[in-house]
Amino acid sequence: MSARVLVVDDILPNVKLLEAKLSCEYYEVLTATSGQEALEKVKNENPDIVLLDVMMPGMDGFEVCSRIKSDPDRAHIPVVMVTALTDTEDKVRGLEVGADDFLSKPINDTALMARVRSLVRLKMALDEWRVRENAAMQFGVVGEKTNVMAEPVEGARILVVEDKEFEKNKIVETLAKDHNIAMAVDNGMRGMELATTYDFDVLMISLDLKNEDGLRLCSHLKSNERTRAVPIVMIGEDEDIGRIAHGLEIGAHDYIIRPLERNELLARVRTQIRRKRFQERLRSTYEISLSMALTDSLTGLYNRRYFEVHMEKLLQKNEQSKKTMAVIMLDIDHFKSVNDTYGHNVGDEVLKVFAERLKNSLRSFDLVARLGGEEFVAILPDVSPEWACIVAERLRRSICDTPIRCSVEGGALPITTSAGGTLITHGAHSIEEILGRADKCLYQAKHEGRNCVVFENIGKLDPEKYKEPERAFFQEQEENGAIGSSPAG
Ligand code: GH3
Ligand code: MG
Ligand code: MG
Repeated sequence: MSARVLVVDDILPNVKLLEAKLSCEYYEVLTATSGQEALEKVKNENPDIVLLDVMMPGMDGFEVCSRIKSDPDRAHIPVVMVTALTDTEDKVRGLEVGADDFLSKPINDTALMARVRSLVRLKMALDEWRVRENAAMQFGVVGEKTNVMAEPVEGARILVVEDKEFEKNKIVETLAKDHNIAMAVDNGMRGMELATTYDFDVLMISLDLKNEDGLRLCSHLKSNERTRAVPIVMIGEDEDIGRIAHGLEIGAHDYIIRPLERNELLARVRTQIRRKRFQERLRSTYEISLSMALTDSLTGLYNRRYFEVHMEKLLQKNEQSKKTMAVIMLDIDHFKSVNDTYGHNVGDEVLKVFAERLKNSLRSFDLVARLGGEEFVAILPDVSPEWACIVAERLRRSICDTPIRCSVEGGALPITTSAGGTLITHGAHSIEEILGRADKCLYQAKHEGRNCVVFENIGKLDPEKYKEPERAFFQEQEENGAIGSSPAG
């Protein structure tokens, strides 16, 4: 995985040293020798990670980091502070201004490379979601870009796997300061059981458990579907650095070295909580925007775009299968006069109820979409010709049998719909061809006086002939589970 690394240090030999090490690992290296230059490069050159010296004349590393982290477009770029400072206070300060790690010089190469690789991997995953966030902004789901630093860091659920009683209590006590709910266990088996049963925000795993290999537990957690995405913070000794590097390789997000320093522990856990919540937010915005892209906002039914993709898939399947599929097009009768008489808002109310009734008259695996305006289409994927006609009649009656409630004098309007249906047997078909055939029948239904159904090769349906067999619809519903075929239903 190649990535762009920005190395910032006011002392040129330090820059050169890191540059040489990173180039050996095939990273593209950018350099800066002052805070100001670093900010410019971050802005213009889009690095995937920043290795940042703390002590620089003018603007120091803390300031640079905090500026990067307050820019919504750059806050997700990982920053590793690399410094001669060894004081925990500095370390915590760095983590608190948003640094993803704080490494002390002399730098252990294994640790540094593992860290860079791991953070670059996390950033690339976030980049994916940020692309989708952009799409979400176009759909108006989010007004402004989210910033990872704005996520709340308190009240998370944390699982601690640690068998040293004293350490365990210390961790739980420390986590409680942020109103986190921490559960602590002293063996990996129990840890795995809990982690796969409950939703945790962070998992803290000791790498020096007495009777088992903490690293193996990390690996199990990373390969389990349920726990894969939960950030892991490893706890280890200085001499564990090789295993810690290995842990980062297999997907653990961070580590903390004993003796555990409370503020550092909190700062590191906060970073993980923040990042997880940020990612969850991006994901949910994406899902909302996806559903907005595929559904019609007025009725909640699928839109034409979704209909076409879905229909294409069904047609491919249909080409081989021997099943019959029915496509029914519906168009509200004299809808223009509803708008003209009562206004567009009443028209919209009618459309909503109309859509709702269609949805409730179909099985869960049928699909109904709004093609546009007052035109709808239903697909019944596996249906006999006889039943296709019965269902089309059912849809028609679902509209005309009861006046539609809306804001008019009297509270409701009598509405009718015309429908045109066609049956698709196996073989190659195109969407245009099929919609064309259904539309022709629909046109004929309008011509026949509206509030009726015309089926291809059958003609205008006799409502008496295609009446619902007694109770059959409801029996069918019970057998097939839920009613409704809308995205929401
Ligand atoms: P017909 O029985 O032949 O179908 O007559 P019609 O009046 O229903 O047909 P026409 O196609 O002439 O009119 C459809 C009307 O639907 C015109 C348009 O203003 C209205 N319409 C389309 N989309 C919407 C919408 O989203 N909301 C509302 N309120 N009206 C819409
Ligand atoms: Mg119409
Ligand atoms: Mg029309």
